[in-house]
Amino acid sequence: MSTMNTVGRPTTPNAVETKPATLTGGRGLLQNEMLIFERDGWGKTGVDLAAPKTDGGDLGDLVRKDPIGLPGLSEPETMRHYVRLSQKNHAIDLAIYPLGSCTMKHNPRLNEKMARLAGFADIHPLQPVSTVQGALDLMDQLAHWLKTLTGMPAVAMSPKAGAHGELCGLMTIRAAHEASGEHAKRRKVLVPTSAHGTNPATAAFVGYTVVEVKQTEDGRVDVADLASKLGDDVAAIMVTNPNTCGLFERDIIEIARLTHEAGAYFYCDGANFNAIVGRVRPGDLGVDAMHINLHKTFSTPHGGGGPGAGPVVLSAALAPFAPAPWVVSDGDGFKLVERAEDEAVQAFGRLCAFNGQMGMFVRALSYMMSHGTDGLRQVAEDAVLNANYIKARLSDVMSAAFPDGPCMHEALFDDEWLKGTDVTTLDFAKAMIDEGFHPMTMYFPLVVHGAMLIEPTETESKQELDRFIHAMRALAEAAKAGDVDRFKGAPFHAPLKRLDETRAARAPRLRWSAPEGSNSAAA
Ligand SMILES: *Cc1c(COP(=O)(O)O)cnc(C)c1O
Repeated sequence: MSTMNTVGRPTTPNAVETKPATLTGGRGLLQNEMLIFERDGWGKTGVDLAAPKTDGGDLGDLVRKDPIGLPGLSEPETMRHYVRLSQKNHAIDLAIYPLGSCTMKHNPRLNEKMARLAGFADIHPLQPVSTVQGALDLMDQLAHWLKTLTGMPAVAMSPKAGAHGELCGLMTIRAAHEASGEHAKRRKVLVPTSAHGTNPATAAFVGYTVVEVKQTEDGRVDVADLASKLGDDVAAIMVTNPNTCGLFERDIIEIARLTHEAGAYFYCDGANFNAIVGRVRPGDLGVDAMHINLHKTFSTPHGGGGPGAGPVVLSAALAPFAPAPWVVSDGDGFKLVERAEDEAVQAFGRLCAFNGQMGMFVRALSYMMSHGTDGLRQVAEDAVLNANYIKARLSDVMSAAFPDGPCMHEALFDDEWLKGTDVTTLDFAKAMIDEGFHPMTMYFPLVVHGAMLIEPTETESKQELDRFIHAMRALAEAAKAGDVDRFKGAPFHAPLKRLDETRAARAPRLRWSAPEGSNSAAA
């Protein structure tokens, strides 16, 4: 009686597996697991709490009269439930996670140890600043390193993700145009066709009209097209560098010059900073604002929606408009500038409550300090080397989207090589799951047909890359040899088969409701 949202395709005859399905749904010491609400645990509890002293008097009419409707599990049952669920999932601690653009790298345990130090983990943002001097010192040091690595004079620390950083950057740019009286006429933001979806979404959210900029044959911004669209009605451009095709924007300095000449600001999407950290300072390229995904470039866990951190570095022109808060220090220690007054009078306000993702700050600084400047430069070098190794080792069996020259930190393939095989990019990705590998990013960037975007990151060893390459080559050869069944029904070995992802996104079922006739209390 599973009520799980398993709107999957009917399973096709299993061409790969010849053994019968198991009797219980379990498999090889992995047990099948139902929803927590479906377990027979109503009325049980895993903890022994004293009856509350209050009679609910303070709450008046708000006191709950019905059962709370939470499933009851003992501690071992709870542990098992969540561990079983976690076994159905992929994790960076299990194997390579080659998702392009996401930068899924190993998270050093040292970072975790630092983030759990009580002086960082057990503090509250409303504590008096005199009692959190160490935490403010850490934020100040991290800000120093972000400014040093990017060659930019200021940084807004509070954004909580890359997309939030984009919002921060465009709100800062809007504040600057408002201050100069140009906001009313500068209503457009230029975005290249290869951009991450968050770029146009952010521009639209801040109230701008998004204008697309074309891309050249070799995957870069078309400078002539950009120049023709720049004018005194443009507020900013948003360009990713290296871009989402895994390529360095060769004309970046010219792009910045043209943008400034038109009186617009250059927002750089810095999600791919891991490809150039320690080698290139975006400030030297003419960037005015750039978010840094601490959860990508500087490790720190991410995925599943967070937590992330997206500090935004700012040029001197934009710095006065940065949102509060920020840390300042004088002879008496560290303080927070919290309000748009005095020295912060031009700040556009606040972006969020409190000061940012403290746990992520600790992890990111720990990653920086344990690598040192030479180690951070090597991060970029190894990330690029690993991607080029994959590109070189797969280019004879798959078609590289931009075959000429090296790539940066991502190897991008199209589906040209699958023509005539009846296997699609999606089928290929699902067959990778059967081989024990998480698929790469598919169908993004949109400008490349049937895109397969692979980002190994610097934390994968040559042995691990060779295992991945071996699996990819074997699958590519199977596809070309006409072994279509292996792909069409895949994944055969995963706990769930092909899910209806569109329906899951458009009509998600986020609440569990008790099946008809059941006596369990509904949540
Ligand atoms: C990940 C990413 C973003 C968004 O960052 P989040 O932290 O996921 O909000 C934006 N642009 C690019 C190119 C990215 O890879």
